[in-house]
Amino acid sequence: MIVVFISNNVKGTHFSEDGIHNIHAFNFKVNAQLDGQDYTKLQCSKLVSNIKTLHHLQSHMSSLSLITPVNYHCCPNSCICYTGDYQHFDHCPHYSKSCYDNQG
Ligand SMILES: [Zn+2]
Repeated sequence: MIVVFISNNVKGTHFSEDGIHNIHAFNFKVNAQLDGQDYTKLQCSKLVSNIKTLHHLQSHMSSLSLITPVNYHCCPNSCICYTGDYQHFDHCPHYSKSCYDNQG
């Protein structure tokens, strides 16, 4: 099942085949809990044709939903997100791992 929250500005809009394909790709990414690197690997694998870049996909979904994504650093083990009470932390309090990967 696909659940898409569509803003009022696009209700009644007929989506192109490409638009529907993007919605399915985004739905798969979210349900499979793919991070950006996994999504890019899937895109580069050529297992599925016509997959847009993550940036393109996110921009398209943002324009449909009128939701602007905000990125935060998270522990590589997904224990915390460095926001709120953790916004000034630079290491995970559980694993003492840096909030940054080796690419920064
Ligand atoms: Zn952690």
